[in-house]
Amino acid sequence: TVRTRVAPSPTGDPHVGTAYIALFNYCFAKQHGGEFILRIEDTDQARSSRESEQAIYDSLSWLGLSWDEGPDCGGAAGPYRQSERSDIYKKYAQQLIDEGKAFYCFATSEELDEMRKQQMAEGLQPKYDGRGLKLSVEEIAANLAEGKPYVVRMKIPESGSFSFNDYLRGDVEIPWEQVDMQVLLKADGLPTYFLANVVDDHLMGITHVFRGEEWLNSAPKLLKLYQDLGWEAPVLGHMPLLRNPDKSKLSKRKNPTSVNYYRKMGFLPEAMLNYLGRMGWSMPDEREKFTLAEMIEHFDMKRVSLGGPVFDVEKLKWLNGLWIREELSDEQLAQRLVEWAYNQETLMGIIPQAKARLDVLSDLAPLAGHFVSGMPEYAPELLTAGKLEEEQVRSLLQMFIWQLEEQRQWDKDTVFAVAKQLSTHLDVKIRDFLEPIFVAITGKTSSTSVVDAMAILGSDMSRARLRFALS
Ligand code: ATP
Ligand code: GLU
Repeated sequence: TVRTRVAPSPTGDPHVGTAYIALFNYCFAKQHGGEFILRIEDTDQARSSRESEQAIYDSLSWLGLSWDEGPDCGGAAGPYRQSERSDIYKKYAQQLIDEGKAFYCFATSEELDEMRKQQMAEGLQPKYDGRGLKLSVEEIAANLAEGKPYVVRMKIPESGSFSFNDYLRGDVEIPWEQVDMQVLLKADGLPTYFLANVVDDHLMGITHVFRGEEWLNSAPKLLKLYQDLGWEAPVLGHMPLLRNPDKSKLSKRKNPTSVNYYRKMGFLPEAMLNYLGRMGWSMPDEREKFTLAEMIEHFDMKRVSLGGPVFDVEKLKWLNGLWIREELSDEQLAQRLVEWAYNQETLMGIIPQAKARLDVLSDLAPLAGHFVSGMPEYAPELLTAGKLEEEQVRSLLQMFIWQLEEQRQWDKDTVFAVAKQLSTHLDVKIRDFLEPIFVAITGKTSSTSVVDAMAILGSDMSRARLRFALS
């Protein structure tokens, strides 16, 4: 059976790129009556978090994608979270060492820095020089006995080139010279992406891997690892990356990249999935609007076009409008609105903020409209109506966005602490600091508490509005 997977790292907001890759792997599997697996690649312990993992499940589920096996639902090839598989990777790293396909390197980071500096001074491209390969058996044994920290690296041929057949690109050839002696096991005993990914795809019986084009240059290393471990490699296909309208790689500086943002904006999951399905692919009859079931029915991976697909929010909006007007009855639309924001839970977030300022119920919309809207409308001058100059406002907004992006937690206290710290750092009063933030978030100069509003709106919508204020 065909088995595909998506293997995101839980290191931030759930990316539309992850949903896009998941969708294509899902369609390929289902079209062949196969299985689709979700694996969590959390070997980067410092950057991974459970919140972010949960956000991946939530965003894919919201879009209507489901997986046959995964950390949350189990399966015969588990565990599906890489942090729970360390012993497995260690075993294969040892096998590679024993068979002379990988080697120990005890060089310290200072030594490697020195090596790179020297190479650059000689006008060379910095590259690991294979020093670990020169150690004698006795030296290695002595270092290990001493407990010296080490990494395990894979051996790479010095010359020639590696070619393979990419499912979407045909024959690809990459000279070995461009490939480094990749670290497989880090000093902390955890694997890098390369080792973990190969071991897991093999043990989980993955037959086809469709991943982002950013991994194309890694293909020789991955495929060599399959060879070295004596395994048959899955079919590889490298999908074009999503682009901003200006053709640069989709990035949150230019376009919201978190699925949560689109959810908060009130896009329909069906429309969003439909749009992602149009990224590099089209229906044989070129129709723009289609369901997931229709996509699977007509799916043909070979028809993915490699020119970078543009993720254009305006186009997505247009398609979403079609879905609302053509696919939802009035009753269904009412139901969607309730699910989206006009529900008890959201209202219970808003009411404690608004109640003290309500004389009549109809005061609610002007007071709390920003809780149920997208980007607020206001005259740009409003941002500088407070004490601060335009330049100050701009840099404050920018720094605030950067600092907020670093936060794992999102609640009132966290947001306030960041604001407070930054205002101290910039030597402005917190009151003056919050004035332009207030406008950016609520579109007004007076309303409910801005910090509470940001907590209720969530990180994606709050940051999008701050960024919008800068645009
Ligand atoms: P940003 O540049 O906005 O910070 P990023 O590249 O840092 O984004 P990552 O956190 O590295 O984002 O990637 C998260 C996931 O989204 C990865 O699986 C990555 O393959 C995927 N991804 C990121 N950018 C794109 C893109 N332009 N097209 C398709 N997938 C993408
Ligand atoms: N963890 C990798 C990522 O985040 C997986 C890449 C792959 O599909 O092999 O993109």
